[in-house]
Amino acid sequence: MDDLLAHMRIGVAQDVFAVRQLGREVAREVGLEGQDQTRVATALSEAARVMVASGQVTTVAFQLRRDPAPTLLVEMEHPARGDAATLAQQLKAVGRLVDTMEVADGETGTVVRMARRLPPGAARLTLDHMDEIRARLDEHRPGTPLDELAVQNQQLIAALDEVRAQRDDLARLNAELEETNKGVMALYNQLSEELEETNRGVVALYAELDEKSVQLRAASEAKSRFLANVSHELRAPVTAIIGLGRLLADEGSDKLTSEQGRQVELIRTSATDLLTLVNDLLDLAKAEAGRIDPVPSDVDLRAVFGQLRGTLRPLATRPEVEFVVEEPGLPSIRTDEVLLGQVLRNLLTNAIKFTAAGSVRLRVTRAGDDAVFEVADTGAGIPPELHERIFEEFYQVPGSRALSGKGTGLGLPYARRLVTILGGALRVTSEPGKGSTFTVALPVGGP
Ligand code: ADP
Repeated sequence: MDDLLAHMRIGVAQDVFAVRQLGREVAREVGLEGQDQTRVATALSEAARVMVASGQVTTVAFQLRRDPAPTLLVEMEHPARGDAATLAQQLKAVGRLVDTMEVADGETGTVVRMARRLPPGAARLTLDHMDEIRARLDEHRPGTPLDELAVQNQQLIAALDEVRAQRDDLARLNAELEETNKGVMALYNQLSEELEETNRGVVALYAELDEKSVQLRAASEAKSRFLANVSHELRAPVTAIIGLGRLLADEGSDKLTSEQGRQVELIRTSATDLLTLVNDLLDLAKAEAGRIDPVPSDVDLRAVFGQLRGTLRPLATRPEVEFVVEEPGLPSIRTDEVLLGQVLRNLLTNAIKFTAAGSVRLRVTRAGDDAVFEVADTGAGIPPELHERIFEEFYQVPGSRALSGKGTGLGLPYARRLVTILGGALRVTSEPGKGSTFTVALPVGGP
């Protein structure tokens, strides 16, 4: 239910001032603040002015609505009917002073309803409180039009003051904003300059890096060329030394003393080791110089495994080591058969060399698009910090030569090169004392 706070009738021009004063009083009593009081009072007096001009007596009722939110309602009614459309047009500006305004043709005349929401504190309005308000409003006696004019003038002055203060505030804010903008622009320019500077540095750095990598490539090519030439040139004399040694030790040659025989044998084995080294160097140099072009074909893995089994079994001479080449887990892959054979032979030879007891195993399985070859042994193993170093040229795990007897330290770098050329990857997992597993993953569909 809406509570009636006050009501009055207006019929003559003077009443317009009275209703304005009453409206302001009601607005103040229900808790609206200064400017809102003026808004309500102005809306009311303007509506009253228009309605009185029609010559009809108008009743005005002020009510308080609690739900859903505390709201002041003002209802003005005059008996002339069918007037709503014109009145609504005339009161258009008034609507802006309140939250809602409607003009309607009712049973008994034309009604104007205005509503203004009250501030949150107004919710405390109790029934007792309302009685007090009603009593005070009853006592309210309208002042003269001159009094009202004075009040209006004061309000106008206050409003103008406020507008000026707001305009000054706005000007100050604008100045501050401009100042801030200048600061931001300065910062932006400084950052841009710094960024440009950094970019220049980065570009210079890249240019230097490019130059260095060109130099590096040239150095590496020169090294490969040098190795290839030297090893090529060395092959002939070393082969000659081996031949000569064989000739000297031959039955048909002059008899050598046993000391001479021992020395010639020493020359021969040293020359043979040298030839192995020269050949390994030549292979690696060729691979590094990019002079190995893989020739892919469909490689029958059973055949490759069979051949490895046959050629390497004679090397696995230790009775404590079981040498196992398993049945392939896939029939074939597309790759270069010769290079694949070299890689696997290399890994198996190492495994046999470095395994004193247990087993050496070769197997291949399929994992997605890859064929994964595994050479697993139960040999000496390799400490984890050396897992990458063993792929460097000439590197040998300290102490490992004692077990293997010989080696150049070129086998693994060469094997890794070949696997890369075949489009795959060569990795190792190993634990000292437990053994090592070298894994070659090659794309089944070819390099
Ligand atoms: P090489 O066998 O001629 O010495 P590699 O390049 O083939 O040269 O191997 C480098 C080193 O890696 C070997 O000297 C050895 O110390 C270590 N190594 C390679 N394979 C194995 C293996 N299966 N078990 C233990 N150590 C190994």
